[in-house]
Amino acid sequence: MAGHAELSIESLPSAPAGTPLYVHLPFCVFKCHYCDFYSIPAEGQDIPGFLATLEQEIAARAPQSPTTVFFGGGTPSLLSIEQWQRLMAVLEEHTGFRSSAQEITVECNPESLDENKARALLDLGVTRLSIGLQSLRAQTLQQFGRVHSANEALEAFRAARRAGCRSINLDVIFANPGQTAAQWRVDLERILEEGPDHLAAYNLTFEEATPFLRWLEQGKLQALPEELELELAEITRELTTAAGLRPYEISNFARDGHACHHNINYWHNGPYAGLGPSAVSKIGNRRGGSARSLPLYQKRMAQRGHALDWSETLDAQARLAETWWLGLRLTEGLSAREARERAGFQDPTDPAVPVAERLVQAGWLQRAGERFQLTTKGLPLADAIASEFFSTLVPEGTANPT
Ligand code: SF4
Repeated sequence: MAGHAELSIESLPSAPAGTPLYVHLPFCVFKCHYCDFYSIPAEGQDIPGFLATLEQEIAARAPQSPTTVFFGGGTPSLLSIEQWQRLMAVLEEHTGFRSSAQEITVECNPESLDENKARALLDLGVTRLSIGLQSLRAQTLQQFGRVHSANEALEAFRAARRAGCRSINLDVIFANPGQTAAQWRVDLERILEEGPDHLAAYNLTFEEATPFLRWLEQGKLQALPEELELELAEITRELTTAAGLRPYEISNFARDGHACHHNINYWHNGPYAGLGPSAVSKIGNRRGGSARSLPLYQKRMAQRGHALDWSETLDAQARLAETWWLGLRLTEGLSAREARERAGFQDPTDPAVPVAERLVQAGWLQRAGERFQLTTKGLPLADAIASEFFSTLVPEGTANPT
């Protein structure tokens, strides 16, 4: 992403009615060792003060009638029931989301989700709970720095079901240091036995400024060999499919009717509005993000009435490259015509088609009618495939900071 500049709110157009809405709630009990999301330990933080600021931002920037709402973090389930009631009332007052949103997701962690909390969230209109389970293996949870046990994770899932939640995602991570194929098979089988409606299974990555990257660099942790990572990904596809969860995106698996609409909009490169610290918005050919620091977010809101920290303009070629990169992550793939429509690309010559054809020749993509899809060979090469599109379509970078 391009560099960031000091900006006014005019740098991002307001989100039109119907724009999907993301709300970032940054507090967690403890920072996990692999995590690079903007999240901070809740202890000692002024959560009511943050929520008051978020209410101001909702009043100023939330789109009318969003088609989906996603509360992410951080650990949104850390908020009390009373805090949720107020937040949802304010959001309803300014957006009318209860009658417009086909899907309302709240991310939860086991240590802060019980039956009462789950029922309260459902009563407030939430349709989907996404639980950060990660693993049911005690040693893995400890290595990750998770604050919950496997039993607490199972209890949170079951509590959500007892409360009446009919759409539950479980987040899991594989390819952590030391993991064997046999361990992952046992762990994932156990997780799938619970019967989640959706599974998001991510291959661990070592992110900047995390303890995991530091320990890797110090030789205290070793990344798995690539062949083993591929085997673990293959086990994930095999077991989820056997459990009735269809792979619809590289890392996401769902029962029929349970694919995440909010995230599909990202993969379709659709518009979205983001509120809260670090949240990103994309409206038309503009993208911008809020300050990735709670004090700075609050200062910006107090001084300027918005928390925008950076923004950039995406030209037509960059939008087209991003649309291919995102769209190919979906199992259904995309056609050149869909890519042009989603990107708003109007030039008569489509520079992405020769790239896609070349990748078909290489065996990384296949044709299904008009659509291009990743092949089994191309599946683990999504990043390399993305760089083929970017290096051809936008050799000088993806965006212009303004
Ligand atoms: S609970 Fe989630 S958001 Fe919070 S630190 Fe852990 S991985 Fe990051």
